[in-house]
Amino acid sequence: MSATPSVPRQGADRYDVVVVGAGFAGMYMLRRLRGLGLAARVYEQGSGVGGTWYWNRYPGARCDVESMQYSYSFSDELQQQWNWSERYAPQPEILKYANHVADRFDLRRDIQFDTRVERAVFDENAKMWSVTTSHGKTVAAKYLVLATGCLSNARMPEIKGLDRFKGKVYHTGHWPHEPVDFTGRRVAVIGTGSSGIQSVPVIAEQASHLTVFQRTANFSIPARNAKLTDQERQWFRERYPEIRRFAREEARNGIYTELPDRGALDDGDNERRAKYEARWQRGGLTFMSVYNNLALDKTANDTAADFVREKIAEIVKDPATAKLLQPNSHPIGTKRICIDTDYFATFNRPNVTLVDIKTNPIEEITENAVRAGSRDYEVDALVLATGFDAMTGSVAKIDISGRDGQTLNQKWAEGPKTYLGLMSSGFPNLFIITGPGSPSVLSNMMVSIEQHVDWISDCLACMRDRDLDTIEATKDAEDKWVAHVNEVAYTTLYPQANSWYMGANVPGKPRIFMPYIGGVGPYRKICNEVAAKGYEGFAMAGAERQQSAAAS
Ligand SMILES: Cc1cc2nc3c(=O)[nH]c(=O)nc-3n(C[C@H](O)[C@H](O)[C@H](O)COP(=O)(O)OP(=O)(O)OC[C@H]3O[C@@H](n4cnc5c(N)ncnc54)[C@H](O)[C@@H]3O)c2cc1C
Repeated sequence: MSATPSVPRQGADRYDVVVVGAGFAGMYMLRRLRGLGLAARVYEQGSGVGGTWYWNRYPGARCDVESMQYSYSFSDELQQQWNWSERYAPQPEILKYANHVADRFDLRRDIQFDTRVERAVFDENAKMWSVTTSHGKTVAAKYLVLATGCLSNARMPEIKGLDRFKGKVYHTGHWPHEPVDFTGRRVAVIGTGSSGIQSVPVIAEQASHLTVFQRTANFSIPARNAKLTDQERQWFRERYPEIRRFAREEARNGIYTELPDRGALDDGDNERRAKYEARWQRGGLTFMSVYNNLALDKTANDTAADFVREKIAEIVKDPATAKLLQPNSHPIGTKRICIDTDYFATFNRPNVTLVDIKTNPIEEITENAVRAGSRDYEVDALVLATGFDAMTGSVAKIDISGRDGQTLNQKWAEGPKTYLGLMSSGFPNLFIITGPGSPSVLSNMMVSIEQHVDWISDCLACMRDRDLDTIEATKDAEDKWVAHVNEVAYTTLYPQANSWYMGANVPGKPRIFMPYIGGVGPYRKICNEVAAKGYEGFAMAGAERQQSAAAS
């Protein structure tokens, strides 16, 4: 660490709040801060708003929570007026929505684009954060809010020879802005998580040949995407108050759907099959909520996993390929379940080959080929669908220094530690939106983002009303919360998967279950109770100063 940058004393370089990131979280945060009359500055490394939807422009990119629910609820006018065109909007439409929100609420004037936050240092005397950007400028802020996103740090795989490849290399999470045309080209897709599963069918239609390199077969459910009709949109709009309430308070994952009241083993074979079939035909993420014990009981889970494996075998004509595509390494749902359009059927195309890199790992990339199992697969373009350093990756890239010069990376060396996923002890006035230890990626993230932004905003209003300087998670509350997050995770099947929830996709990353699995409803209740009890588990300071001033 170099010397602490001095806190600018006054003027335009001091803010009440600096927000990092202008995705859906940063944008809503800015709107709420304005509503509180606070001076806020948002820094965004991209050239526009939208976060995930700004960066992930790969073919086939779309949301997997239905758009009528994967959208802001804070403005009824907005949700009544915006016309989603499809059940799952494609990336360009979601980006258009983000831009519309930025314009509609006049957000851009407080957002500085093309600017990375590189460093943040807490000045214990001034009780301010010094925030240094990629332009070398340092500003001061009382509060720092990280709206840096859970899936925003694209992970480049460490493959020997990648830099030697003469063709084009694309990462799905960092896709070029100009259209990429694969017509007549031989393409390799490496990775079969959500982005791979969305992009493979679309790329296969263009490419002369597509080779898909699969390490782990993943469960995927048909999206059954379709145009939305006026009646469907109207159905949602009329019911929005109840749909949004239910998603916030009752659904575990922030999605409005029927809540299951039975376990998978409470039904006989035929009845169970009929229920899985009905959900398969309906399509989408609610497949996993057909029963209430699929995430808890391995035998119950096996019934759903077997059903999907059978479906794969029915769809994919070549038995050897079907077998490779059938996931066997983890219980269904314990890795982010994927939603697809014709993914499995794509492997029936004559121009598509599946390569199993679990048994035959990629050895290297040459100037014109991917070498796996001592065989060269010649390609003109490489698509890396290798995901993200999830949940902590973007936070870790910022050099954050709290009390006593301790860095957040030092503190989180063995895994992230937070209280409620919102704050980390030793880092006063630093909030994280959808941080590790909160439901975040296990939920409809719009619900989780809005909940965190509202909670933080209420907290800042309380700080101001009580003339407080700092708020900080106590170590005791944090330790208890970390233990609770862990304990709840281990009552489920989730830790059985080598997933990015566990940090397992990044070599050397500590294996710790990062999101809170207790459900968005119970989690919200806990957060509200903490606030109602005067921010229990947080140390707040500053009132003493006021009290002693009054006494003297
Ligand atoms: C392909 C894909 C599909 C998804 N589909 C869904 C879905 O259907 N439903 C769902 O609930 N969730 C989905 N997600 C998760 C998605 O990330 C969230 O829904 C949501 O968009 C997150 O918003 P955010 O503002 O928290 O983070 P982001 O959208 O990731 O925005 C964070 C922003 O912070 C910026 N940033 C980070 N670090 C810095 C820095 N140091 N300085 C300056 N700027 C910085 C980044 O550039 C980025 O623009 C999907 C994710 C991906 C990748």
